[in-house]
Amino acid sequence: MNKNKKQTSQKNATKVVGPTRADRGRRIFEHGGQVRRIDDIEYEVKSQTWPDRAYAVFRTERGWICSCPDHLEAGHTCKHIHAVDISIRMRQAVQTGTTIRQVDPTKCKHCGSHSIIRDCIRHFKKGDVQQYRCKDCKKRFTHNLGFEGKRATPEQVSTGIELLFAGMSTRKVATTLKGMGVTISHQTVLNWATQYAEIMERFADKILPRLGEQWRTDEVYVSVKGNPRYIFAMLDTETRYWIAKMVAEHKGNDDVAPMFAKAKDVAGKAPETLVSDGAANFHHAWREQYAPRNFLDKDTIHINQVEFDGVHHNNQMESFNGNTIRHREKVIRGLKREDSAILTGLQLYHNYVRGHLGLADHATPAEAAGINVQGDNKFLTMIQAAVQSD
Ligand SMILES: [Zn+2]
Ligand SMILES: [Zn+2]
Repeated sequence: MNKNKKQTSQKNATKVVGPTRADRGRRIFEHGGQVRRIDDIEYEVKSQTWPDRAYAVFRTERGWICSCPDHLEAGHTCKHIHAVDISIRMRQAVQTGTTIRQVDPTKCKHCGSHSIIRDCIRHFKKGDVQQYRCKDCKKRFTHNLGFEGKRATPEQVSTGIELLFAGMSTRKVATTLKGMGVTISHQTVLNWATQYAEIMERFADKILPRLGEQWRTDEVYVSVKGNPRYIFAMLDTETRYWIAKMVAEHKGNDDVAPMFAKAKDVAGKAPETLVSDGAANFHHAWREQYAPRNFLDKDTIHINQVEFDGVHHNNQMESFNGNTIRHREKVIRGLKREDSAILTGLQLYHNYVRGHLGLADHATPAEAAGINVQGDNKFLTMIQAAVQSD
């Protein structure tokens, strides 16, 4: 029985249509009452084969460990681990609608007390950082969390990154920051952007956005160092959230399934409807990744011909193309690799920073998806929250 299952799963990994382990984990979670949280590091997931059995899933330094054979013997990230992962993200999202809080500089980072005093200054190669001490819990801390050793202040760094992803050239950003009192090279701007986009992405990946049931794909042609490239995007129609991305060399035949899989992972579900153009690679990825999502009940529908004057005519795509990518070609030209963090930065900017004209009150797509980032400087809040949670 077990062996059989393993073989089927391995086939799934290489193209045969059918639920993946992540799909099964999601199904376990959606079934309800299967995942029991004991504490932050221990969960119990009911066996799907033996109703009276349960597997223990533990958080360790090396990631999750499950007591089932699929994990222990075969070393897979099993469906139980997937079920726990999604239940954690779901719990966070449901509990608070997810609020990403600002670091309050007048409070102790450890106990929240306001009785803090300046302590020694810590010296780093590139600059000094003020250290504080809490009179209540006696612990020491800095407020430069995530910006240790930077010559610029957290505000300057995060503002520079925001300007870059808003479409300003690295040289212009450097000039602007000079006006704010810090002299750095345009290369430093790019380094910051790369470093912090990666930090923020790791953090954003842990948050579950509440997305709608219709998603759409879009692509934009760009030239990267003289080479033709396509930036593909999976977008949620309701919130405009840019769920997943990839860079491809060809429009019609690159395998886009990884982007579909990533989007499903980010959203914790597959959409009821997917709208894309008629390209075969999109249809193939849809069949592989989304069609079998509701193997218990309803099916996913794929509308693979965008009707340009009909119901599915798509201003949203125009807006993605124009506002998110076209206005930022200066940034795109900085793309060196296909998986470049620069593209991640654009995605983060689109989701978390830029108010969307198509949304009520010009909310950000993240806000529309239930994720509230406190403060005006969204990137600063996110970087600090990210570093705090690492
Ligand atoms: Zn397991
Ligand atoms: Zn304290």
